[in-house]
Amino acid sequence: MENSDRVRQIKTILLQALAQEGNKNKKLADSLAFGEKSGDIADMATREKDAFEKIGEFQRQQEKINSLHLALLRVTEGGWNGECGECGEKIPLKRIESYPTSDLCVGCQSLKEEKEKGRK
Ligand SMILES: [Zn+2]
Repeated sequence: MENSDRVRQIKTILLQALAQEGNKNKKLADSLAFGEKSGDIADMATREKDAFEKIGEFQRQQEKINSLHLALLRVTEGGWNGECGECGEKIPLKRIESYPTSDLCVGCQSLKEEKEKGRK
C-alpha cells in the first residue's frame, strides 16, 4: 500500500518535470527565428550565432527529457520505487524532486563523484 503510493508520487514528479522541460524546449524552438531574412550580413551572422547557441541548449534540454523518459520507464516498466541504485535505500521524495533523473541517494552520489574526481 505504502509502496504504490510512493510509486504514484514518483510518477507525478517525473511527469511534471517532463511537462516543464517539454515546455521549455517548445519555447526554445519557437524562439528560433527561422525564415527571418531582414537585416544585413551582420544581422544574419548574429542571428546564426544565436541560433547555434539555442540549438545547443535545445539539445541539452532534449537529453534531459530523454533521461526523464528513462526514469519514468524505470518506474512503469522496471518497477522502480525510488530506491538507490547502489545501496538500495529509499531515496527521499524531496531529492527525487530536485534530481529526478538520478537513481542514487545523496551518500552514493557524492561517493561516486569523489571516485570520479579521484580518477582525473
Ligand atoms: Zn545509496
